[in-house]
Amino acid sequence: MANNINLQVYHGVEATVNAYIFSDNESVILVDCLRNSDEASKLAAQIKSLNKPLTHLFITHGHPDHYTGMHVMKQEFPDVQIVVNTPEIKEDIINFSTWMESVGWLEKEPALKPKTDANPNGFDYQANIDILKRGKLVLAEGAEIEAFSNYEAAECEHLTTLYSKDLKAFFANDFVYNGVHPWLAIDTQNIQNWKQQLEEFAHVLEQDLTIYGGHGKPGDISVFNTQLKYINDFEAVVAEAKSREEAMQKMQELYPDYTQADFLLVYSVNAFVAE
Ligand SMILES: [Zn+2]
Repeated sequence: MANNINLQVYHGVEATVNAYIFSDNESVILVDCLRNSDEASKLAAQIKSLNKPLTHLFITHGHPDHYTGMHVMKQEFPDVQIVVNTPEIKEDIINFSTWMESVGWLEKEPALKPKTDANPNGFDYQANIDILKRGKLVLAEGAEIEAFSNYEAAECEHLTTLYSKDLKAFFANDFVYNGVHPWLAIDTQNIQNWKQQLEEFAHVLEQDLTIYGGHGKPGDISVFNTQLKYINDFEAVVAEAKSREEAMQKMQELYPDYTQADFLLVYSVNAFVAE
């Protein structure tokens, strides 16, 4: 018999990024926490309305659209344990925040500026982020969510997928953007790794799972091939395009319903097409 486990998907607005709320009768676990503090506060209110303790905030990878709400969660739920799957992911988060501060990106989110000798009131990433034990998140009544990070560098250097046998669900993290232009401003080797991993997911995973991506709506097993086709299309378009405008236009013609053309697609195109 399946263990008791409920899932609420919180679809964030900025970057069309998702947060996932798992609960049973006695506890709540949150996976990722959105791109800005305002949205994270709304997410916190939704969790509070469940009237159960939030035991863990699990961060899937070191991109800020998945962890910017971290300090809000720590403030609203002082007892929450913030966890990642590997030490490398903790390093990714610290490195990204340090870089964001150096280029002024954290002026809008000053509470996320890293704690240093010069900024003693900053966010203490070292002390506040722990490494998950035994590679699984466990709700109070016993349902388990398994975490996997043994992937080659792709959309991010280190990503984490999750699997719930009870929900018959696979959380593909940022290997899948469903109906959303993906972040492709990455190494060509990372793109090849990404494509290879998508093929593997499509073949190896149980075919009746529900697939939840890091961005966009959930889907069935076909989302992996859809993502693969998108990346192949993107590679063909940027290889042929004579200008950034042309590449933008072609991708939007091919994917007219996809969100984030004005943000994620712009960065991806600019990384591959010269001005
Ligand atoms: Zn993301």
